[in-house]
Amino acid sequence: MRPENAHALSTWRDCPVSQQPAYPDAEAVADVVADLRDRPPLVFAGEVDQLRTKLAEASRGDAFVLTGGDCAETFAESTAVRLRLKIQAILQMAIVLTYGSSMPVIKMGRMAGQYAKPRSSDMETIDGVTLPSYRGDAVNEFTFTNTAREPDPRRLIEMYTRSGTSLNLIRAFTRGGYADLRLVHQWNKGFTSNPAYKRYEELAAEIDRAVRFMAAAGAQFDAMSSVDFYSSHEALLMEYEAAMTREDSRTGCLYDTSAHFLWIGERTRDPEGAHVALLSQVANPVGVKIGPSTREDDLKALIDRLNPDGIAGRLTFITRMGADRIGDVLPGLIDAVRRDGRPVVWVCDPMHGNTTTSATGYKTRDFATIMREVHQFFDVHAAEGTVPGGIHVEMTGDDVTEVRGGADTIDDERLAERYETRVDPRLNHQQSLELAFQLAELLQA
Ligand code: PEP
Ligand code: MN
Repeated sequence: MRPENAHALSTWRDCPVSQQPAYPDAEAVADVVADLRDRPPLVFAGEVDQLRTKLAEASRGDAFVLTGGDCAETFAESTAVRLRLKIQAILQMAIVLTYGSSMPVIKMGRMAGQYAKPRSSDMETIDGVTLPSYRGDAVNEFTFTNTAREPDPRRLIEMYTRSGTSLNLIRAFTRGGYADLRLVHQWNKGFTSNPAYKRYEELAAEIDRAVRFMAAAGAQFDAMSSVDFYSSHEALLMEYEAAMTREDSRTGCLYDTSAHFLWIGERTRDPEGAHVALLSQVANPVGVKIGPSTREDDLKALIDRLNPDGIAGRLTFITRMGADRIGDVLPGLIDAVRRDGRPVVWVCDPMHGNTTTSATGYKTRDFATIMREVHQFFDVHAAEGTVPGGIHVEMTGDDVTEVRGGADTIDDERLAERYETRVDPRLNHQQSLELAFQLAELLQA
C-alpha cells in the first residue's frame, strides 16, 4: 500500500470510537487482523464503482433503491435455503417496484456481512445476572452464559468466510437464470392469487400484460435473466472494516472490500468520530442513518467529511424518523441539504423509528405505521420538490411473525407463532410483497 494510503487508513485511530467489542486479548485481535489483511477482497472496485454510478441516477430520480434483509444475519442461518428465500423476496419486490416507478431498481441486500449490531447498553441483565450484550454473531454468541457472551475476535474470520460464501451464492442466483423476469413474475402471481391479497390483483395483471408484451415484442430476455445485486451492511467493527480496506491496483484509491455499500448507524454517526473518519477514506458509496434528533449542522458536517467534492451517488442519507416525527423533522433537513447544494440520495428506512413492545412482551412494529412513514416520506419530498430515492427495510423471505398487521393479520397473540429475530422485528415474505405493491401504487400516482 502507498504510504499516503496507509496513513489515510490509520487516521480513524485518533478519533473517538464507540460501539466496539471489549476484546479480552489484544494479541488475538492483532493475529486476526493480520490474517484478514492477506485474504482476497470480497467485492471488487469495478462493481463498487458501477453501484456508485447507479446511485447517482437515484439521486436524480432516474433509478430507485431497494435495500432489504435481516436486522442481524446469523451464521447459523446463512444457509442456501434462507439466502435463496431472501433473494427471491427482494427480486419479487423489485419487479413490482420497477413496474410502479418505471425506473431501474437498484437491488441491495442487508446481506453477506450484516453480522454486527450496535447496542444501547453494553451489558444485559436477566434474572439478576449481568453479562455483556449480544453484539451480533461477528462479536459474541446469543446464548446467555459467560463464555458465550465474551467477545471473540476469531468470529471476524467466520464473518469473512460466511460473507464470502453468501456472496458466492448471490452471484450464482442472480447470474444463472434464477432471476429471470418471467420466473420472478410467476412467483408474484402465486402471491396475488391468495384472497388476502386480492386488492393487488389488478396491478399484478398489468405487470403480467407488460411482461407478455415484452416477450411478444422480442425483448432480450437473456439480458433480463441476470440482475445486478449488491451487498451492504453497517460498517460497525473498525478492525474488520479497516482490515478489509485495500488499494485498487488500477487507480490507487482505497476501497472497503467487505461489501459494495457500507452505512454508518444512527449511534455512530458523529462527524468527528472514527466510523465517519474511516469511511471518509474509501471510494465506496456510503450511507448514514439519520434519526429525528439530527440537526441541520450535522448533515452539513457529514457532507463535508464524507462527500466534500459533491460526487453524485457517493452519499446516501437513510432517514429513520418514525411515522410521528418525519413530517416535522424531514422538511428542514431536506432544505439544509438543498441549500448546501451537494447531491445526496434520500432513502427511507420506515422500520427503526417505529419499534414498540406488544402486550405479549415482543419487540414489534406495525405494518400500518411503517406504511404511514413511507407515505409521508413521499409527501414531504413531493412538497419540497426533491427526490425520494429509495427504501430500506428489515425483511426476510420466511413466514415469520414479528411485525403486526398486513392483510394476513398478525396480532399480538400470533407474534409467538414464529418469532425468530434476535434483534429487530422483520417484515415476513407476504408483508414485504404487500409493502412493494403499496409502494408501487404510490410511485405510479
Ligand atoms: C439497523 O439498521 O439495524 C440499525 C441499528 O439502525 P439505526 O442505526 O438506524 O438504529
Ligand atoms: Mn435493526
